[in-house]
Amino acid sequence: MGKATSVKTDICVHPRHRQTQRQGFVVTIDGPAGAGKSTVARALALRLGYAYFDTGALYRAMAWGFHQAGIDCRDTSAMEAFLAAMDIRVSLEEGVTRTIIDNEDVTAHLRSPEMSRLASTVAELPQVRERLLPIQRQYGQRGGIVAEGRDIGTRVFPEAEVKFFLEADLETRTARRHRETVQVGYAETSGEIRRHIQERDAKDRSRDVAPLTPADDAVVIDSSSLTIDQVVERLMKWIPVRP
Ligand code: C5P
Repeated sequence: MGKATSVKTDICVHPRHRQTQRQGFVVTIDGPAGAGKSTVARALALRLGYAYFDTGALYRAMAWGFHQAGIDCRDTSAMEAFLAAMDIRVSLEEGVTRTIIDNEDVTAHLRSPEMSRLASTVAELPQVRERLLPIQRQYGQRGGIVAEGRDIGTRVFPEAEVKFFLEADLETRTARRHRETVQVGYAETSGEIRRHIQERDAKDRSRDVAPLTPADDAVVIDSSSLTIDQVVERLMKWIPVRP
């Protein structure tokens, strides 16, 4: 599958698309904050009858754990001791990725602007990324999953059968995030959201480990002028028909 800015209408079939004992394909959706990944990934998973995996929830949960324990990310030995001792688990429910730290379900705490910012700071730490890698990978083994994040097609599931990279211009992403933020009851202005998106993007794209970038074999789609349904229809055209 080659990189493309617009999607062809034909069905793409690749030798990697052989199904054996697996329950479906691994579909990855990467992209910057506010590009529409979560909504699209959830809708695509529903259409395909696949599990939906929001990997950002893991980084947010890690941020919450650090915050609660009062860990300073710059204190390497405290941070490593915390990572070694903590128990972090994920449960993929329909449309929701629940994260459990030391037996506490922390899912409800993770959508605040503060956790968004802290998540992108802890996501820069190689130790955190290493800790979260096997947790994410175990969900790819049986296939039948749509996983979204920043490094899913490049690092977590480099062998995924279908990879997408979703983009949108900054104004569109700001407006989408503003609507979401208001819905969940946080009072950030558009200007603050735009600035925070830019800061997070810069961190995500420039970090040393697993930076945000499209995989060489990802289909790149700009969703700025498309509705959710239109994006999902485009992605569906790249999902191979099972033999
Ligand atoms: O997707 P979401 O906005 O919830 O992700 C929060 C942060 O977690 C991102 O800004 C990014 O820094 C980090 N992240 C990551 N790799 C992923 C998913 C999220 O680095 N696969």
